[in-house]
Amino acid sequence: MIRPPEYVSAIKPYVPGKPLEELERELGIKGSIKLASNENPLGPSPLALEAIRGAGKDLNRYPDGGGFYLKNMLSEKLSVSPDNIILGNGSNELLDIVARTYMRPGDEAVMATPSFVVYSMAVQSTGCRAVQVPLKDFVHDLAAMREAVTGKTRIVFIANPNNPTGTINRIGEFDRLMEGLPDGVLTVMDEAYYEYVSDPEYADSMKWFREGRDILVLRTFSKIFGLAGLRIGYGIAKEEIVSEMNKLRPPFNTNSLAQVAAMVAFGDGAHVRRSREINEEGKRYLYQHFGRLGVRYVTTEANFIYLPVEDSGTLYERLLREGVIVRPMGPKALRVTVGLPEENTRFIEALGEIVKS
Ligand code: PMP
Repeated sequence: MIRPPEYVSAIKPYVPGKPLEELERELGIKGSIKLASNENPLGPSPLALEAIRGAGKDLNRYPDGGGFYLKNMLSEKLSVSPDNIILGNGSNELLDIVARTYMRPGDEAVMATPSFVVYSMAVQSTGCRAVQVPLKDFVHDLAAMREAVTGKTRIVFIANPNNPTGTINRIGEFDRLMEGLPDGVLTVMDEAYYEYVSDPEYADSMKWFREGRDILVLRTFSKIFGLAGLRIGYGIAKEEIVSEMNKLRPPFNTNSLAQVAAMVAFGDGAHVRRSREINEEGKRYLYQHFGRLGVRYVTTEANFIYLPVEDSGTLYERLLREGVIVRPMGPKALRVTVGLPEENTRFIEALGEIVKS
């Protein structure tokens, strides 16, 4: 029987948040809510939906493989050249492409744990080693990550904000890391939740891009822009990096509806503002009730909250039976996405019942 290389069999498959339909099928619970995948609870921008309807008539055509209009729009808004932008089928695809572009067999990549699991999967798929550095007080320990860099290190992955903890790294510590990294190491700064951050000390990755350093900044339309189902994200890096990555980017990797919707969603400032407001409101509500219930939580800069708990499996199952899907993060933590006010209330009521008993 044919077998994959050992480094492929060793990969643990990605486990996505449980879909609502699955819970309803399995437990027969109607009207469940899903707070498990950090999606925008308000939905997509209504203007983007309208644009998608208009673009449907051209679906017999291949998309623009280069994403000309979307890259031009992003280039203007971000004050970078279109040649500094690469589009991905979600930022997820760009994580895979960057690993395949720069990792040679036997190389290493440094990342935090717990952090977004796709970093280690992407690295392992190239036959390389993922060096995982524990968080310190739920935050990326950039000094320890710098220490973990060796002559074999090709990439340092940072999620800022981090998934699953929602914490950020600040300017000073990030600048020190960038100053301390040896030549020939690429920093991948994953800013999937960038638009939610309110801390003024948030690390400025674009400064290092402007200085011409080896850095890839990743952002996505899946989170605040509410387009997770369309799969589109982008990376910003110097031209040399983008052109090398483009060699491994599949033709037509982003579809035409996603390109059109992304352009419109980016420009829909009202929807983005509303999404940020509802998230802030939800955070305040949840913090207040976690405090009242004596539930420990980590303050977030994103649209989800990390709850260190005694036994995540049991709590997760009990919440499921109450029709609330959250995400277990190992045996000792849950991650809950901030939802609409009524969803947050439903979650707090269910949690309250469980805590009481
Ligand atoms: N990075 C982080 C930190 C994430 O949490 C996610 C989504 N779970 C992604 C990247 C991937 O997002 P997408 O592929 O939808 O752009």
